[in-house]
Amino acid sequence: MSAQTRRNTKETLLNIYGNKCYYCEESIASHELTIDHYIPRDIQKGLKNNLRLACFICNNVKANMLPERFLLHREKLVTQFRREQFRKLLSRIYHNWKENEISL
Ligand SMILES: [Zn+2]
Repeated sequence: MSAQTRRNTKETLLNIYGNKCYYCEESIASHELTIDHYIPRDIQKGLKNNLRLACFICNNVKANMLPERFLLHREKLVTQFRREQFRKLLSRIYHNWKENEISL
């Protein structure tokens, strides 16, 4: 795809989907949005209406996954991240409590 074709394609996608990632729905500056093949080219080539705009992270994590599989995978990553954040929070609360208990 030439640079000009890429620009035109991106412009068309921006008009259809707006300035946000198709997968995480984050609003992102147009120059930071990447063009993603909804159904990976490795699975099926030459599909019509197969392009979407995605943030760099979603596009790279999705790689060659089918959209449904990627969304499940993404959900797991988000849950894992939240679990780790929660664990850190509990640990901070516990350590604060311990420090206060010792200083009493
Ligand atoms: Zn995204």
